[in-house]
Amino acid sequence: MSGEVPEPRLDTRAILAGRQDNEGSLAHPLWATTTFESTTLDEGQRQATSARPSRFYGRYGNPTVRGFEDAVAALEGAEAAQAFASGMGAISSLVLALCSKGDHVVATRQLYSSTALLFQGVCPRFGIEVTLVDGVDSEAVAGAVVPGRTVLVFVETPTNPLLQLVDLDAVGAIQGPLRVVDSTFAGPMIQRPLEHGVDLVVHSATKGLAGHNDATLGVVAGAEDLLQWIWSYHTIHGAVASPHDAHSALRGIRTLPVRVERQSATAQRVAEFLEDHPAVAQVHYPGLESHPQRDLAKRQMALGGGLVSFDLAGGWEAGRRFAEAVRLAHLAPSLGGPETLVTHPASTTAANLTPEDRAAMGVGDGLVRLSIGLEHPDDVVADIAGALAAVDPR
Ligand SMILES: *Cc1c(COP(=O)(O)O)cnc(C)c1O
Repeated sequence: MSGEVPEPRLDTRAILAGRQDNEGSLAHPLWATTTFESTTLDEGQRQATSARPSRFYGRYGNPTVRGFEDAVAALEGAEAAQAFASGMGAISSLVLALCSKGDHVVATRQLYSSTALLFQGVCPRFGIEVTLVDGVDSEAVAGAVVPGRTVLVFVETPTNPLLQLVDLDAVGAIQGPLRVVDSTFAGPMIQRPLEHGVDLVVHSATKGLAGHNDATLGVVAGAEDLLQWIWSYHTIHGAVASPHDAHSALRGIRTLPVRVERQSATAQRVAEFLEDHPAVAQVHYPGLESHPQRDLAKRQMALGGGLVSFDLAGGWEAGRRFAEAVRLAHLAPSLGGPETLVTHPASTTAANLTPEDRAAMGVGDGLVRLSIGLEHPDDVVADIAGALAAVDPR
């Protein structure tokens, strides 16, 4: 199929990819089965002993899940991809597959909250030492690597919730350890970390890749040999992707390019509107000229993405009023779906931290994060303008 189109562009790859197992069906079939029948003993033995078989037993693989994996690999420019039951299933499996007692990991301090708990709470229990560094400071990331001991460098870019960036070229240039990038906040239409020389890219596909708030899924993409190693641990870990969710996500990937374009364009408008509003102290968006890493954004991101965060000058009460005043947007966690969502990090993802620790992370009481959806841009801006009027009627 893909052989008919010479070097398809990324948008076309989103349509062509993951069709190997379709057997004539244009839409991807849903293989809702946990087991496959072998016609001969030899065939059964082949399936049981091959790496990543898609037709043996559900925990080993599934043709629908494989279609999703192939599509992600095609978009990331990877040899292969491996799906998991969630983003955290992917992250915890790859960390525990690649790290052993006595190993050292360097990770950026600006991490998704559950990833931070994995590195700070779980890894030490298994004798894996983790050094956290400021991801914005490329020299600090490279400088924390201990030659011969550091096996993994784990970064996330753009970061949650402040949309800071980690320099992908600098991470790709680190020699020795495996370099892993959580690219959930941008996705392959915006940035492709493997092209910068890193080893693995990981996504919570629950977010923009599946893109409709109806599938919980994770995925890791990279070289086949590395993924075979992670897969063999994954069959023990057991965070297996559901074929139903993979089916939803593969359908989501078909429209990923147009969704990301629309969300980025609306987010750019929203960010520019917020910058001019008196109730807003600061706007964080990689597409703004005022973003402190705007040059880096231009180098490694094709678009600004669908997330915008901003600090309300009125603190916690202003955050509450804004979150409760929106009419179109929903007060809900997650991101990358068709609905515009509002989150207030200080009362949710950072709620268990002290105000001092939150402040050190840059999560102010008036910080609001928006995941821009697919509603008409005028309606999104009008909703935000209306909610800001409730915060500060100036
Ligand atoms: C949501 C998220 C995760 C975790 O993914 P789940 O699918 O919820 O397990 C990891 N990293 C980032 C950046 C995320 O946004």
